[in-house]
Amino acid sequence: MHDPEELPRPGAPEVAFAGRSNAGKSSAINALAGRRRLAFVSKTPGRTQLINFFALGDRAYLVDLPGYGYAGVPLEVRRHWQHLVGTYVSTRPSLAAVVVVMDCRHPLTSLDLTLLEWLRAAGRPAHVLLTKSDKLSRQASRATLDRVRSQLARLHPGASVQLFSSLKREGLEEAANRLASLVDDARKNKAPAKGE
Ligand code: GDP
Repeated sequence: MHDPEELPRPGAPEVAFAGRSNAGKSSAINALAGRRRLAFVSKTPGRTQLINFFALGDRAYLVDLPGYGYAGVPLEVRRHWQHLVGTYVSTRPSLAAVVVVMDCRHPLTSLDLTLLEWLRAAGRPAHVLLTKSDKLSRQASRATLDRVRSQLARLHPGASVQLFSSLKREGLEEAANRLASLVDDARKNKAPAKGE
C-alpha cells in the first residue's frame, strides 16, 4: 500500500501487528489468527512489502504490517517503511489497535519507540507482545516484563504488555482476550480499558 487508497475499503475493526523483522510476528499471527488468509493482499509496486489481511474471528481483521528492518537497512528502505506504516497507523479509520511485537531479549529498539510515539500521538491503543519468552528464564522474563511495563507507562500510557511464546504456546489466551477486548472497545467506539 504505497498509497492508502490501495487498501480495502475500511470496514470491520482491524488489529494490526507490527514489529522488527525476526521478532516473531509471523509466528504470533499464525498462533492467534484463523488460518484463513483473506483474498485481499495489498502489494506495494516494486517492493516485497505486503500488507496481509487475516480473519480474526468473524467480525474483525488481523492486519500484518511489514516488518521493520535491522539497524543496517538502507535509509531509503527505512523511509519507505516509515511512510507505509506511519500513514496506516495515523490515518486508517478502521484501525482498532496495534500489537507491537518485540523479541523479549531486545525490547524497545529505536523503531519500536518511533512506532509507539506514532501510536500515542494518534491516540491508538497498543498492546505489546514480548515474544520468545521461552528463551529467557522465568525470572529474567518477569524482570523484562516489569521493565518494559514501566517504560511504556511513560512512552504510551494505557498500552498493555505481556510475555508470549509461539513455540511453547504461552500467553496465547491472554493475547486472544486482549485482542477481543480491543475489538469490543472499537465496536463500542469508546476508550479502551487502561492496559494491565
Ligand atoms: P517475523 O520476522 O517477526 O515474522 O518472525 P518469525 O515469526 O518469522 O520468527 C523469526 C524466528 O524466530 C524464526 O526462526 C522463528 O522460528 C523464531 N521464533 C518465533 N517465535 C518464537 C518463539 O516463541 N520462541 C522461539 N524460541 N523462537 C521463535
